[in-house]
Parts: sequence; C-alpha cells; structure tokens
Amino acid sequence: MKITLPSHKTKIIGTIGPASRSEEVLEKLMKSGMSIARLNFSHGSLDQHKNDISTIRSVAQRLERPVAILVDLPGPKIRIGHLKTEPIVLKKGAELYLTTRAVSGTSSLIPVSYIRLPESVFPGSIIYLNDGFIELRVVDVSETDVRCVVEVEGQILSGKGLNLPGTKIFLDTPTDRDLDIMKFALDEGIDTFGISFVYSADDIIRAKEFAAKRGKTIHTIAKIERAGAVDTIEDILEVTDGIMIARGDLGVEIPIEEVPTAQKKLIRAANLYGRPVITATQMLESMVDHTRPTRAEATDVANAILDGTDAVMLSEETAIGGYPVETVSMMARIAREVERQRRTMRTPSFLQDSLKEDLRNRQINIPDTISLNVFEAARALNAPFILTPTTMGTTPRRISRMKPESWILAFNNVQNVCDFLMFSYGVYPIVMSTGNDVWHERVIEYLKDSGKAEKGDRIILTEGKFSGAFGGTDSMSIVTVS
Ligand code: PEP
Repeated sequence: MKITLPSHKTKIIGTIGPASRSEEVLEKLMKSGMSIARLNFSHGSLDQHKNDISTIRSVAQRLERPVAILVDLPGPKIRIGHLKTEPIVLKKGAELYLTTRAVSGTSSLIPVSYIRLPESVFPGSIIYLNDGFIELRVVDVSETDVRCVVEVEGQILSGKGLNLPGTKIFLDTPTDRDLDIMKFALDEGIDTFGISFVYSADDIIRAKEFAAKRGKTIHTIAKIERAGAVDTIEDILEVTDGIMIARGDLGVEIPIEEVPTAQKKLIRAANLYGRPVITATQMLESMVDHTRPTRAEATDVANAILDGTDAVMLSEETAIGGYPVETVSMMARIAREVERQRRTMRTPSFLQDSLKEDLRNRQINIPDTISLNVFEAARALNAPFILTPTTMGTTPRRISRMKPESWILAFNNVQNVCDFLMFSYGVYPIVMSTGNDVWHERVIEYLKDSGKAEKGDRIILTEGKFSGAFGGTDSMSIVTVS
C-alpha cells in the first residue's frame, strides 16, 4: 500500500491535449495536483486518444498515484462546416444564409451540420455562433436555408459551435458517434463518461442501457449545459453518478447573468444527492497565455469550492495553453488556501446546516444518518482520517459532500469503483479487500509508519456490521492510534 496525499482535497481535472500529452508534462501535472485526466473526444482521433490513455496510465503507475480518466463525449453539438477562407468577419446588419446544403462557407453562406435547422427556427429566433460571441436573428426560412441578419458582429472560423437557446433540438443524446466512442473506451477499460447536452434523465438512462447491453456498468457525468437540464436537475441526479456544470455552452443556452445562480443551485442539488459535481470552463482561462490568473478567476475557483464543488476543471488551460503545469499548481494553491479557511467562513456552516435541514426534510435514512455523524465526529475529534470500506462508493460520497477536513480513505477491490471515487472531494480510494478482521489495523499501522498519523490521533471507521447487506453501512467506530 502506498498513499500519496495531495496538499488539497478539491479534485483538479486537466484536459489533455497538445500542451500536456507528453510523459514529462503529465508527470508534472500529476505531481502538481491533477487527479483526473479528461479526454475531450470533440477533438483528436481515436488513435491519439488511445496513445494518451496509455501514457496517462503508465505515468500514474510509475508515480504510484491514483489518476482517473474521464472520457468526455462530444454529444449533439451543432457546428458550422468548412469555410473557404478564414476567419470570416460577420458585420452588424449584414445578411447571410445558414444552409444544410454541402457548400464551402463564405461570409454570406455558411454550412451547418444540423440537417433539421430550418424546422427548428422561425422568423425572430436568435441563433448564436462561436460560444455566443456572434448573434444572428432569423428573418425567414426555406427547406434548406435560414436567412439571418447579424445582430452582434464578430469573426468566425470553420467548425465553431452554433447554439439555439430554448429550441427543441431533434438530436438524441448520446449520439451514434458517442456510442461508438463509448465502445472504444469500454474496450480500453474506461467506464466514466461525460454525457454532453443532456436534456433529461432519459438521456442518461439510454447511455447506461447501451453499456448494460454489452455487459458493462458505466459511471456517467451529466453535463449540464441546457436550460432543460437545469430545470429537471433532480430527475437527472436520480439516475446519473455525477454532474458537470459545463459553463461554456450553459452560458449561451441560458442568459449569461443566470449562470452564477444556476451554478450555486446545481452544486447544492448534487451535494444533497451525494453525487460529485464538477465546475468547468474558463476557471483560469487567462493562464492560457499568462503565468498568473486574474483576481476574478482566482475568486471564481475559490467560490466554487466554498459552495461545495467536488472538482474544478481546466480545459484550454491544460490542453493547448502555454502554462499547463503552472495552471494546475495555481489551482492547487487556491484550493489549499480555501480549504484551510473553509471552517472559519460562514459558507461551510451554511452548507452543512442546510444539508442537515434538507436531509431531515427528505426523511433521513440510515446511510444519511451515518454520514452526518461521521462528519460531526471527525470534526469534533479532529480526526485526520475516515476509513470507509464501500461496495458502490455511496458511503464515502455521502461523507464527502459534507466537505470534512479529514481525508476519507475508501476501500474497494474493484479498480473502476475506486476510479470514480477520484471525483469526490477529499476521497482517496485504495484498491484493497477489507474482507478480514485486521484490515483496518494494517492501514492504521501504515498511516503511523509513514508519518500520516500519530499516537493519540482519532480515526473514524465505518462498517456494515449488522446489516451484512449490499451497501449496508450501519455503524461507526472511533479508534485511537496507539
Ligand atoms: C462546456 O461547454 O463548458 C464544456 C465543458 O463542454 P465542452 O468543452 O465539451 O464544450
């Protein structure tokens, strides 16, 4: 057994790309605090991703660190097609056609990947291009073309995204391409998937059923980037294993001024369900080009952590940025400082009190009672560790949502269960069987020998002592290190 604890409990996700796929950079990212590598399948070939998976695994193995891999599926993102020359500039007041015909784009005729665009819009509809930077208003619609006028001007390149906020899109999530990628990733032994553009719980169920038909169980991260998903978040949380607040598309699909409150509500809802929540996009974006973030970005990361996010995600910063290692180190520095002060801020007691209140209102059950009491005991006794054997990962996740100051060491002998526990705040999964009476003595001895715990420290243990049932954690004990 080897336990290498980072200096912070918030999980840092780095998107891997040209700036970070070398062994050398990956090693530095992991040593700086990145615990999940995200592969964005909107870009790159399957061969490239296969190579990346193998490099990530070999570096993590050499460093003896648990590092999970998140396969982020592209989903039904609508994009413009190829442009003859680029960038093209769309001037305010200019007219242009969006077309479903296969043409090379110009500033007056732009091809679009979505064949049902003409039936999805009507005169007066607003269409956004390029992450919302360009705004078009629909003037009229024919069978294949949509005539628009430019309301907010800007530059555009081939392949950029197109958003139709509040419009029914006739595209299924996951798409056929997503399912092909899922097959590929399952064959590679990866089972955690970002499901893009989730509209309702059914989208998650479809993804899980697809895997089940192949005899696999998957973990899903529902990417919340549509208004419909924000509105039905409770239903989605019933079926998904975690969520990502995908603020890039979300900030175009809903009015941008609603993103901050939506983020807070989504974090809180996920905490209540005991599902890990990732806050994503533009967290330290200025570090793509600079060695330091803006004050606003540092504050954004800090606020997400104080609100109860489990993980913070980097996209371009680590994929194509000039300073991937510096960015992860900066995120780790912010996380460490915020966590150190969490207890003295008003936010944590607000989070914990309201969690308790909400849990009570939902007629508290045995696992919820255990998680609350483990949290209280760990805090009262200043316990450095909580040891939790787990079948599905539910108990450590329920404890984690309270954001304890103790590390939660979670034990399971299945690699994929442990991998998914990497997404939860303060959880350090260990692939190990706890099927004997002395497992915890061995762990405590290791913690003492490696200087992570000392004589007199209190350690909290959870167990399924009486139920003997699947997922039946029903007891808590407190051990004093001798
Ligand atoms: C987002 O939209 O914020 C996001 C994370 O998704 P993607 O990077 O896949 O567009």
